[in-house]
Amino acid sequence: MSNDRIVVAGGGGFIGGHLVGKLLEEGNSNILAVDLKPTDEWYQVFPDVENRCLDLRSIDACQEVMAGACDIYNLAADMGGMGFIENNKALCMISVLINTHLLMAARDHGVRNFFYSSSACVYPIGLQQTPDNPGMREEDAYPAMPEDGYGWEKLFSERMCRHFAEDFGLRARVARYHNVYGPHGTWAGGREKAPAAICRKIIEAKLSGRHEIEVWGDGHQTRSFTFIDDCLYGTLAIMRSDIIDPINLGSSEMVTINELVDITEEIAGIKVERRYNLDAPLGVRGRSSDNTLITERLGWAPSTPLAVGMEATYRWIYDEVAALSVK
Ligand code: NAD
Repeated sequence: MSNDRIVVAGGGGFIGGHLVGKLLEEGNSNILAVDLKPTDEWYQVFPDVENRCLDLRSIDACQEVMAGACDIYNLAADMGGMGFIENNKALCMISVLINTHLLMAARDHGVRNFFYSSSACVYPIGLQQTPDNPGMREEDAYPAMPEDGYGWEKLFSERMCRHFAEDFGLRARVARYHNVYGPHGTWAGGREKAPAAICRKIIEAKLSGRHEIEVWGDGHQTRSFTFIDDCLYGTLAIMRSDIIDPINLGSSEMVTINELVDITEEIAGIKVERRYNLDAPLGVRGRSSDNTLITERLGWAPSTPLAVGMEATYRWIYDEVAALSVK
């Protein structure tokens, strides 16, 4: 079997689905998309690609998908927004099996390039206690005290990649994603993140005429949000680069959650009453991405303005909500 296949693990998910589309657009013809979910639940299914439903926590499944592969993008994980990761720490940590078994199978099959999707949740909670966060730098990850559960799994998996590269010569690349958002992602059900959740709540307020929404926290906590197009560009550029250490892939446009609501209100053309829920899962107080390293190494950093990305996201979620309400 010739080794020219590109495997996208988590291909039925948000980022994985977009990545498969992008790889096809580039003219790649031998792509395998794999996900735990049945294909009718995938966000995007491309007919020109082999689509398989497998549980990648199993080493046998990983061995099966790696046969004939040259590149693997690991975007598979049991994850979600703060509401999910704060209440499902064990499930988040079990994703360690996916990356570990994919690494082992990649080594056994002589796969050349391995991409791992890490997260800004690897950064120590103690450095993110104030809303005016100057941006997390890559070296801030150590000494380690990441987000409990999800963040520890990501940090451990980063190190597995590093040691598989050092000991077995695998070309491993690791990006630390910061809050990726866009169309074709989770917008309901408990795993959604702030941009999609705010869009959904404002759309529901608009459609129902009850112009009131719940906001988690006091609205003053800060984050930066990375549009999917920037995430895809950065993912491919990092995979194809000689950057061997984990690197931030995130926007540095830091906003408060209140500002995120302001932007969404503007797009929706309505104002809403905000009910602040201080008992909701909140995560850190302030977080952004320091993009010094990525700018230095790639001559590029995510730049899609939040208002532009939110417009596209809002429109897509609006159509999804509207389609559900006519069913
Ligand atoms: P997603 O939940 O939409 O996609 C993940 C996919 O992995 C899902 O479709 C899920 O079914 C699949 N999966 C879970 N367990 C599996 C298993 N055992 N075998 C096979 N597939 C399995 O999430 P996403 O937003 O597309 O995230 C992709 C990756 O990027 C994840 O590793 C995530 O931790 C990381 N990440 C995402 C963000 C973000 O803001 N979206 C931020 C930081 C890191």
